[in-house]
Amino acid sequence: MARICAVPLADGVWRIPTSVGDLVNTFALRDPDGSVTLVDAGVRWLGSRRVLAGLAELGARPADVARIVVTHAHIDHTGGLPRLVQETGAAVYSHERDAIYLREGRPPRTNRSSRAARIAARFTPKKLPKVPVTEEVADGTVLPLAGGLRVVHTPGHTPGHISLLHERSGVLITGDAVFNVRGLRWAPAWSCTDPTRNRRAADVLGDLDYQVAAFTHGPEVRHRAREAVRAFLRGRER
Ligand SMILES: [Zn+2]
Repeated sequence: MARICAVPLADGVWRIPTSVGDLVNTFALRDPDGSVTLVDAGVRWLGSRRVLAGLAELGARPADVARIVVTHAHIDHTGGLPRLVQETGAAVYSHERDAIYLREGRPPRTNRSSRAARIAARFTPKKLPKVPVTEEVADGTVLPLAGGLRVVHTPGHTPGHISLLHERSGVLITGDAVFNVRGLRWAPAWSCTDPTRNRRAADVLGDLDYQVAAFTHGPEVRHRAREAVRAFLRGRER
């Protein structure tokens, strides 16, 4: 059986896995006029290749991609950006606090409070691809695409980390604020700028209105998604 390159989440919204299994995801949203918005770009070579294959599966051409919204400036989300920008001509959107990292090609500082974090820091890449950010967004901005995509600033994993709510379809993209890798869980502390701030900021995800919770790491939750996220945020993981 051919590998599935684009998983439909709702009308006009797909998840495109860009790594092994569901480990790292990009998302595609389609406007009625056929233009496509991507959320994140995956790792450098595999990510961009998988995104292009995913677009082909949903019948979109690279030239249909009008914009790429970046959840945060980490290499597994921005590595594929240079190639995708080159092949699609898309504009790049980022939260104003992470735009500097994309433009300067350096990742934000990570938490070094534990020995494990200091060891992990030695192995994390010191560079990101430099990408021109076309548009800086802020908390509460509703991007006028695919019926409206709301920017929810959830800082901590990085200073400018954002989650995205597609109100029309009821799909929430948590970004790395919450993972769904073998169950809902926090991003590893060593990968965060401020893990405590991340946990506090993610609380807002329990207040939003959505039917599907989609994750940049892990498969989506389609059944009682909001309840599952709320239970996790309350510390009762299930
Ligand atoms: Zn990350």
